[in-house]
Amino acid sequence: MPAQQEKDSNISRRQFLSRAGVAGTAAVVGSLASGSASAAEEAPIKSAINWDQEADVVVIGAGATGMPAAIVAREAGARVILVEANFDIGGHAITSSGNVPLGGGTSIQKKAGIIDSPDLVFQDLTDWSVVEPNGFPDYRYNDREIIRAFADNSVQSFEWLVAHGVIFVDKAPDTAGGTSVGNSVPREMHAAAMDWPMVQTGQPVAPAVRATTSTGNGLMRPLEVAAKKAGVQILLEHRMTSIHREAPGSGRVLGIAVENKGAKLNIRATKAVIIGTGGSTGNVNFRRMFDPRLTEEYCAVAGMPWSDQDASGEIAAMGIGASLWGLYNEVGEFGTTITKSDLIGCQYNYRVLTWMPGSPVFKLARASGLKVLDWQNVIMVNMLGNRFYDETGAQFSANDAGQVDPYTPGSYLNAEKIKYKPSNFINAALAGIGDGHNGGGPIWAIFDADAVTRARWKPEPPNVDFDAGFFFTADTIPDLAAKIVMKYQRVPMPPENLEKTISRYNSFVDAGKDEDFGKPAPKYKIAKAPFYAAWATPTIHDCRAGLRINAKCQVQDMNANVIPGLYCGGESAGGFSLHGLARAICQGLIAGRNAVAEEAM
Ligand SMILES: Cc1cc2nc3c(=O)[nH]c(=O)nc-3n(C[C@H](O)[C@H](O)[C@H](O)COP(=O)(O)OP(=O)(O)OC[C@H]3O[C@@H](n4cnc5c(N)ncnc54)[C@H](O)[C@@H]3O)c2cc1C
Repeated sequence: MPAQQEKDSNISRRQFLSRAGVAGTAAVVGSLASGSASAAEEAPIKSAINWDQEADVVVIGAGATGMPAAIVAREAGARVILVEANFDIGGHAITSSGNVPLGGGTSIQKKAGIIDSPDLVFQDLTDWSVVEPNGFPDYRYNDREIIRAFADNSVQSFEWLVAHGVIFVDKAPDTAGGTSVGNSVPREMHAAAMDWPMVQTGQPVAPAVRATTSTGNGLMRPLEVAAKKAGVQILLEHRMTSIHREAPGSGRVLGIAVENKGAKLNIRATKAVIIGTGGSTGNVNFRRMFDPRLTEEYCAVAGMPWSDQDASGEIAAMGIGASLWGLYNEVGEFGTTITKSDLIGCQYNYRVLTWMPGSPVFKLARASGLKVLDWQNVIMVNMLGNRFYDETGAQFSANDAGQVDPYTPGSYLNAEKIKYKPSNFINAALAGIGDGHNGGGPIWAIFDADAVTRARWKPEPPNVDFDAGFFFTADTIPDLAAKIVMKYQRVPMPPENLEKTISRYNSFVDAGKDEDFGKPAPKYKIAKAPFYAAWATPTIHDCRAGLRINAKCQVQDMNANVIPGLYCGGESAGGFSLHGLARAICQGLIAGRNAVAEEAM
């Protein structure tokens, strides 16, 4: 910052501080393009803000990043306000399966005789030579600075969780539930459900499995207790709408604006604001910057309808000049960014998240879905009633311990030995119908009465969602096609197409061979009424690209300058391809510790 401007802004800050205790100079949220130095110089420091509340550290989002950040900052002596848009804490983390890949030599790894180290974590998560069978590399585009910080802080993040009441399943770390967590050794540990009511069901799990069921409820509820005990002020149903900075492209972050039940409030942060808002995959326009195919019909982000990933953190930070980072990781064809669903007939169809009628959000979820255990029981068709791929086809894969074998870190042989296998189910489902529109449109699982018997499905509410148009039934195939009317089905399904598709598929069953898509030995004809069409459109999950941060989790602008007083971690932060909880928890702790160390305004 030029000397004169620095001086001016200091004067402003003093004036600001002198106003009635917490009233001050204002920052204004600028346009998304306002990050340049010239925009900053031109932007005047505008009006006064009336601060309604004040803390040293303000954390946005009570999920896997925000909760640890808030606790660690509070325990270090800061006054902490944690704002959460939802009616409850937890974010996607509480809906998660609680598999936590924190390695590097944790006490559980040591107990199991697994030899790991921060250097091994770093080496694993930056190994260019690890590729998936479709040729996509899990780790090649990771930011080395960010991974080093994660590797060096993983062990203490794990021990911190244990010290703050999280009980892990008492068994050796394994590979269950991990994606892109490193090839060398098992690192997945599992937060035990214990007696916490599950947000999925409203009930605790059965006593016999309380200590062995892995769930995010067992991760987030103990942290909620720890946060309250430490004195973190948690403001539920407070949605951050913008971040205040001295000027749109320069100066320090001052606080945030929030909405609470229609009221607008400003919360001042004397030291720092931490963004833990969980990513951007629920925001159609934002996610389409990464992948234009991801149009509105992908209306089931995993974790919804408990909490959204609406990009509000990214957009607010970009509004004051922040940059995005590591964008390849969002479109690389590995991991669970876009998933094939095996839960059909309901909107919120992520494979390991079943909403049951006792859940506090069941009214929003509306149906639990039918679980597909055998893809021979259905065919999958697009909006036009045409099959598009082998129904048994898989989503993208991801690397985890032992998958490259033998493995020599950094060796060209790792990639050379991979047998190419494209895993293109998702790409075929998203291909569209050739009419110039983006997006693959709804995907429907079609089956008959015999499939219902074989799979022991109950195709009725609360398992399926007739009312909102995610499930249909009819006595004839043409009637079924004609009935498929819902907001994402933007063209009618021609009945003759669906009839033709089914009769061709039935002929493949007779022949024992799928001549169109190579489904292994098609087994069952679709012949017995009634017939069904169940929503089976892919679900969006991870967000692996977001705001540019450095090793301290400080947010940076387009010129790589730190935005003073602004931190971010978890799915809203970029540069790190690793699924989920571990990076969020670890970055939350890094951000929280560094935020407290900031000089107070
Ligand atoms: C079904 C499911 C299963 C999963 N299983 C695993 C697993 O087993 N292992 C694993 O490692 N990962 C798993 N994940 C991923 C993991 O849960 C997430 O990666 C992790 O929770 C991300 O942490 P976060 O802090 O970035 O976001 P979240 O945990 O989602 O927290 C973000 C919070 O911010 C709030 N928020 C958003 N915008 C605002 C705003 N403007 N103002 C105020 N609050 C706001 C949200 O409501 C939310 O509470 C799973 C995810 C899902 C959905």
